[in-house]
Amino acid sequence: MPHILIVEDEAAIADTLIFALQGEGFTTTWLSLGRAALEHQRATPADLIILDIGLPDISGFETCKQLRRFSEVPVMFLSARDGEIDRVVGLEIGADDYVVKPFSPREVAARVKAILKRMTPRAAPEVAPVLFVIDPERVQISYRSQPLSLTRHEFRLLQCLLEQPERVFSREQLLDALGVVADVGYERNIDSHVKSLRAKLRLVAAQAEPIQTHRGLGYSYSPSHA
Ligand code: CA
Repeated sequence: MPHILIVEDEAAIADTLIFALQGEGFTTTWLSLGRAALEHQRATPADLIILDIGLPDISGFETCKQLRRFSEVPVMFLSARDGEIDRVVGLEIGADDYVVKPFSPREVAARVKAILKRMTPRAAPEVAPVLFVIDPERVQISYRSQPLSLTRHEFRLLQCLLEQPERVFSREQLLDALGVVADVGYERNIDSHVKSLRAKLRLVAAQAEPIQTHRGLGYSYSPSHA
């Protein structure tokens, strides 16, 4: 679920936002200072930031300006006055949306949803097809534009890992994805599929290690190692 960082110094306003956003299934973090928000975003990036303009330390404008030096995260401004909004619109601060107080928390939640929806198609084509392209109909996967020659099991295994990057799958879960019933030797069975899969991937990129081993846990697909 997307994580929303709320930067607002008035607890009552933050509370209504938290309530509305959590009602839509988002997780939230609430901070009341601009500098703390910047630090937080560096350490644990949120998917969207709701940023009050009038903050006790540095303004929302300044926070956004500094944020843009290291992050493209969508920002929605909260403004106390229409006059402030002129600046949001007039200056190119890099905001994605804004609302004027008093606002309806439900409307804010709906706009947050809309912004994130807009973002998704932008992000997806950049990440996935560059390295791996899955063609389920032809039961084929290309890696760095080269079609891999995979067995049916290897295809299912790789597809399962690719669909959820960075998720660690246990051998049992992977076996499930293959549609094979677990028997005594299933763990080694999966290991040998992974081994032959890795050999095929190395033929394309010798130094890469897109399938990572997690000792005692299982395997994951790591885009940063691909
Ligand atoms: Ca304020």
